[in-house]
Amino acid sequence: MALSMKIFSLRISRQIRRYFNTASTCDNGKSVRVRFAPSPTGYMHLGSLRTALYNYLFAKSNGGVFVLRIEDTDQTRIVDGAIEKIIKTLQWAKLEPDEGPSIGGDYGPYIQSQRTELYTNCLDKLIKNGAAYRCYCTKFRLNLIRKDAIRRGEIPKYDNKCRHLTDREIQEKTDENVPYVVRFKLNSEDHEPFTDLVYGHYDVNIANYEGDPVIMKADGLPTYHFANVVDDHLMGITHVLRGQEWQISTPKHLLLYKAFGWSPPEFGHLPLIMNSDGTKLSKRQGDIQISYYQNKGYSPESLLKFLTLLGGGYTQTDDHSIEYDSMKDLIKKFSIENMSTHPGHVDNEKLEQVSKIYLKREMQDDPVQVTDQTMEILTKHLQAKYPSKFPSTELDKEYVAGILQWAVGESRINKITDLTEPQWDFLWNTPSQTQIQELRGNYDLDLCDILRDCYTAVNEMSDFQENTLKNSLSVIAKNRGIKVKLLMNIIRVSLSGLQVGPPVVEMMKILGRTVTLNRLKYAEECVNNLDHVDLKM
Ligand code: GLU
Repeated sequence: MALSMKIFSLRISRQIRRYFNTASTCDNGKSVRVRFAPSPTGYMHLGSLRTALYNYLFAKSNGGVFVLRIEDTDQTRIVDGAIEKIIKTLQWAKLEPDEGPSIGGDYGPYIQSQRTELYTNCLDKLIKNGAAYRCYCTKFRLNLIRKDAIRRGEIPKYDNKCRHLTDREIQEKTDENVPYVVRFKLNSEDHEPFTDLVYGHYDVNIANYEGDPVIMKADGLPTYHFANVVDDHLMGITHVLRGQEWQISTPKHLLLYKAFGWSPPEFGHLPLIMNSDGTKLSKRQGDIQISYYQNKGYSPESLLKFLTLLGGGYTQTDDHSIEYDSMKDLIKKFSIENMSTHPGHVDNEKLEQVSKIYLKREMQDDPVQVTDQTMEILTKHLQAKYPSKFPSTELDKEYVAGILQWAVGESRINKITDLTEPQWDFLWNTPSQTQIQELRGNYDLDLCDILRDCYTAVNEMSDFQENTLKNSLSVIAKNRGIKVKLLMNIIRVSLSGLQVGPPVVEMMKILGRTVTLNRLKYAEECVNNLDHVDLKM
């Protein structure tokens, strides 16, 4: 489905123009502004949804603004359609940004590749004040430095050679059009410890580990670090909440703020998410993509709740049981002081528990409502499972609503797609002749008559309620001189092909009177045909 998305065209907003005309520092004001800044180098996964969620929670619990900014300066790694997918995933999760590419806002454009003019202007400022310089070193030279360091067992880092070029040398290179990048001067005496909102004091003198970093690449586009700092400042971001993998970059970012004379936002880093066995999550792992969870049929609410169990931000209940929390509750109860500093482990069992609790609550809140999305997910799964049946059969919403109400009420499923597991085949399919043949063991009985009795009773009963059904079936068993249990087994096989399963009366109720009657008739026909075959043998 085409996304009706309006990407705002290249437009430097009034706000930002004003900055270049007047301000040298940005007044962030008092109100909280946070951003989710994904790179469109892939689709959303658990880690990126978690970052979006915590930014959203932080913004909303502080009456602030949640911004979506697309960081696409590394054009070589862009994945087609990723921006649209990110926006759609946020929509699905109901984490709608207050400003962003599809809605605009006063600080746009919100896609970095549309902001190149801003970066060039900011870069000039750093070159002029001596905080950045042009570097003409070739790839070949950089490679040699790297190999040399490795050979000596040292950390490879740029030797800052071009810092020391004379004005004349620079002029010559400019005249000869020698390609260059721009580097930022890292000085160890300038280093910037900071207080992480989650992890507390953090102090790494980055100049000890890195040479001067590139902030503008040879293609004229800024690197992540530079564009990220410039945009956070220009967009008035007050708090940066991002994955822990970026914590090491924060001292570098703080030095950039200092070089510009800007006051930095506050930074908080969110703990890593790991697999249940403690190994690192990899974006290539299919089962961490949000589409995987969507396709499995987890509701966005349950997935978000699950993410909060991985990241913290809440006081633990004494019994550690999982509570249902609406988004309103999550916002109200959220506190950054309660964020966890331990890596969260993806525990699929826990997700199933959360999903079950959420599904139950959602059905309680609105028992008859089956959303189009639910129908879509279920249809997709049934189509994949029964390709010959489902392309032509449209699912009946009322039938699905009844099934869901029963399955959730009886705690039979954790998520909607569980309804496509083998034990629930009978919900969607009439049993096969082979399955009905299982009744062969009861051939000393007059099966056709018994099934016909059942048909008549079900057809003629005034209501189709559990008690009436139970009573009528007991009467049939008594009249035919067989045990109720045996009769139930005959009916179960006739309705579902299953020897074991939910109680027969429950099964009849879920299938409804019409389907029950059709299946009883069909079973009788199958048994009748088999009788003839057997007689011929
Ligand atoms: N573009 C970076 C990412 O995709 C954003 C990091 C940050 O939030 O500063 O993770």
